[in-house]
Amino acid sequence: MDTGRNTDTAAAPPVPALPDPASEAVLRSGLPAELAYAFGGPFHFLLPDAFDANLSATLAVFAETGVEGKVYYAKKANKAAVWVERCAAAGCGVDVASLGELREALGHGVPGDQLVVTGPAKAAALHELAVRHRALIAVDSLDELDSLIGLVGTGRTGPARILLRCLPTSQPHSRFGLDAGQLAAALEMCARGAEAVRLEGFSFHLSGYALQPRADLAAELIGHCYRARALGLGADRISIGGGLPTSYTEDHHFTRYLAEQHSGHYHAQKSFSAGDFYPYHSPTPGAQALRELLALVPNGHEQPLSGILKDGGITLLMEPGRALLHQAGATVFEVQGVKERDGYLLVTVNGTSLSLSEQWFNSEYLPDPVLLDSTGDEAPLDPAEDEQPVRRGPDGTCAAAVGAATCLESDMLSWRKIRLPRPPRPGDLLVYPDTAGYQMDSNESPFHDLPLPAKVVIDRTDRARPRWRLDRHFH
Ligand SMILES: *Cc1c(COP(=O)(O)O)cnc(C)c1O
Repeated sequence: MDTGRNTDTAAAPPVPALPDPASEAVLRSGLPAELAYAFGGPFHFLLPDAFDANLSATLAVFAETGVEGKVYYAKKANKAAVWVERCAAAGCGVDVASLGELREALGHGVPGDQLVVTGPAKAAALHELAVRHRALIAVDSLDELDSLIGLVGTGRTGPARILLRCLPTSQPHSRFGLDAGQLAAALEMCARGAEAVRLEGFSFHLSGYALQPRADLAAELIGHCYRARALGLGADRISIGGGLPTSYTEDHHFTRYLAEQHSGHYHAQKSFSAGDFYPYHSPTPGAQALRELLALVPNGHEQPLSGILKDGGITLLMEPGRALLHQAGATVFEVQGVKERDGYLLVTVNGTSLSLSEQWFNSEYLPDPVLLDSTGDEAPLDPAEDEQPVRRGPDGTCAAAVGAATCLESDMLSWRKIRLPRPPRPGDLLVYPDTAGYQMDSNESPFHDLPLPAKVVIDRTDRARPRWRLDRHFH
């Protein structure tokens, strides 16, 4: 029984991931232990059927509401090739922000006119390739617009298809986008340079996950489209960027975690401020958030966003990353060593926190890992089987923080003391759930000359032996 604050081992409150039959089928199949042996290091498994399901659920909202919409998968959320291949197969767009991402998207089958190029001040080579492939370019500054007009003016390519990225009025400190004065100047430049650039609309990307500010800003951008049209420009689309929320755990788990967590729950008395954690629970995740957004009435308007879009003949573009990757993969580490420290365990796994990373956000990844033994069984809860006596909490669990196999004090996968059903042993597997969105490779590096974790695509989970292959084949 769960008895609330666990003063004995000071384990952090549990944050179990939402149930996910496809991942659970993979874990039960015994495949993870086999692959851990085969790769001799940590690996990620990818579930592209989940990506397809998330994408269709999103597109279904457009069909349902009669709003013209287009999805561009934000490629930065995960570097695997399989997502882009799925986008190509589904006729879905991809949001790229570098020459490398643009090449990857083209190389894995997405036509250039299905791409949107975002990011600040883009290199000339990126502009050139984007224009040649007729990709949509989200222009971030007057400088960028000027160099794009200059580039196309040389006559080799063009016109460039562009969106103007707007600085959100609600986030004036953002380093992205054009402010009101710059926007007016940009419209003039577009009107003068109509043979070089074709203005298709406006874009934004907001931090945070609130929906009302997105609805308000979307309506503002529709206003910009009308203004552009008055200048003879053809603007007929707006991009609302990414930031569709994703839900990883039940509301009560996350609420309790935020309310109760304190430095005693973490290795080395580390502390995290509740506001820095990703909102691991959302009442309206993914497609549901889009549905709610379209139904919201923007500030100063009288009808919902869906009606304003339809009245204006405006297509809604969006660039979700994380939300399309919900339940689309997990990360498997092998336990390399275990030691006791002040009543809790320090577990070392065979990888680094670079593959499981909230490092840019002073935070850590909260969904709890699952402990499997080397045969793939979920660990039993039997103190009689402990190889050495370990202190257990009132609920019978033991507390363990998880460190990387590197020589840095700060390289921890989980600073918090996680409740495990028994002490892990070397050779056990620790599986972090739902890691496909930003937790697999955003910050990965071959630190210590450790190889990067392999990515394994599970093509079918509806059979006793899942079919698997590498995301990229070695050449
Ligand atoms: C990061 C980013 C996205 C994707 O954000 P998610 O939170 O993964 O949906 C989309 N568009 C732009 C411009 C971005 O920078």
